[in-house]
Amino acid sequence: MSKIIVIIGAPGAGKGTQSRLLSEEYGYPQISTGDILREMARADTPLGRKVKETMAAGLLVSDEILGEVIRARTSQPDCNNGYILDGYPRTLDQASLLEELASQQGKQIRFARIVVPEEALFKRLTGRRECSKCREIYNIYFRPPKVDGVCDLDGAPLTQRSDDHPEPVSRRLEEYKRSTAPLIDYYSKSGRLIEINGEQPVDVVFEKLLAAADGPNN
Ligand code: AMP
Repeated sequence: MSKIIVIIGAPGAGKGTQSRLLSEEYGYPQISTGDILREMARADTPLGRKVKETMAAGLLVSDEILGEVIRARTSQPDCNNGYILDGYPRTLDQASLLEELASQQGKQIRFARIVVPEEALFKRLTGRRECSKCREIYNIYFRPPKVDGVCDLDGAPLTQRSDDHPEPVSRRLEEYKRSTAPLIDYYSKSGRLIEINGEQPVDVVFEKLLAAADGPNN
């Protein structure tokens, strides 16, 4: 049966990095709701402006908008064999929509949570830089590029997300505790959540995620 791999974790836990590796491994698309919303926020329309404002404030975009986004994206043909969700679900409402979609699409869901202590997240987020071309992720504290502000791989300039500045980061971490933590309780109680220590090296976290994604049905 085809799979939906769900990675849950606080902002900065490494969901993007790991989803990208999983996507290469399985050939499934990586669906980052943050990326989709950032694209929507570029449009100068009432919806685009609303999304942009919400994201800039570090708050969650409404479940209604996310419902439309996720339904539309996961019904694309490249999702037929499976897909990886990076940043969805983030609320209990989103989780129940996902269950509904999985059964409509005849897919099995595998959940893994990447756990990183809150103290470490702030530096991971405020230090994050991304290549404007190939999207490789760096961190000025932990994984700086060889040349300041420039991607090692293609020489393109590195950019910083507007919500990776200290103030929105604090709000995103608060929003995570308020809206997404209950979801973790919900999945843990049903015994379906595999927890992985996200402070291990990227390749170790990846091996454990692969085991979670390939493991017995949950
Ligand atoms: P991310 O790139 O996953 O850190 O997401 C960036 C921002 O996009 C978040 O701070 C939210 O404003 C918004 N966002 C992404 N995914 C969701 C979601 N599943 N539900 C609500 N808002 C979301």
